[in-house]
Amino acid sequence: MNQQALEPEQMNDQHICKVCCHKFSGKYCNRCGEKVVNPQEKSFRHFLGSLLNAITFLDSKFLKTLKLMVLKPGFVSAQVIEGIRVPYVKPISMFFVINLIYFLMAGSDTYNTRLESQLNQMPYSSMISGVVAQKIEKENISMDVFRVRYEQQSTSLAKLMLIVFVLFTGVFILILNVKKKLYFYDHLTVSLEFNSMFILIGNVVVQWFMFLLIKFMLLMDISLEQYLTDPVYTSFAVIIAVAILYFMQRRVYQDSVVWSLVKALAFIPCLAMSMIAYRAILFFATILTV
Ligand SMILES: [Zn+2]
Repeated sequence: MNQQALEPEQMNDQHICKVCCHKFSGKYCNRCGEKVVNPQEKSFRHFLGSLLNAITFLDSKFLKTLKLMVLKPGFVSAQVIEGIRVPYVKPISMFFVINLIYFLMAGSDTYNTRLESQLNQMPYSSMISGVVAQKIEKENISMDVFRVRYEQQSTSLAKLMLIVFVLFTGVFILILNVKKKLYFYDHLTVSLEFNSMFILIGNVVVQWFMFLLIKFMLLMDISLEQYLTDPVYTSFAVIIAVAILYFMQRRVYQDSVVWSLVKALAFIPCLAMSMIAYRAILFFATILTV
């Protein structure tokens, strides 16, 4: 790769690696991977090019990986597990980029759960209301002041703690595919790709699509808001999760149509359990540090 771009004399030149002192030819050290810097790459024009890549994400590798993840779920994971990694952005990097997009623009509170949802909608809600009441009394503040503080802290913790959610779903993916004799690391790759797409499509895209649809229909004097309740959004999320996991089972684990569908459906309660555990951990991490 990239060797066509090299001048012939540079290809044959022997270099001493500046990091590990290994002797090598070509553009990259074959022991530690350090690159030979070409004076051309220090030009202002080159700098502007890298700057554009960094701020627009118009990196071809990024777009290629994203496109494959959206159009062919499981393909990138299957390649990475096979040992074909260089053509793609690492699943963990992809996950953190999508995580960032989610926290910048999602309207849903799936992952940065609001205090209201924690106190009223979770199976453990009745158990934690006492904890919140105690905290408010001890700090001698009003519920409104506490809510603001809580939600700021919860959102900043959620950005890192989402990886806990990836671990939980990775364990369930391992359990569903335990007979495939792969490493837990491989199942984590699948989990990272699954969660990246589930956050992007199931949360960001769906939320924005619905938001624009509501606005558009309002222009025509049709109100959709009474139909678009939480159960409707949950159903969309379930359909999207089943679809992504179905294709991942087909591509990564080479399961039959029926087995892929069975496992994708069995994954939904696993996803719900992971969500409950993640939210409970997020609640306690927040209340202990706020
Ligand atoms: Zn080296």
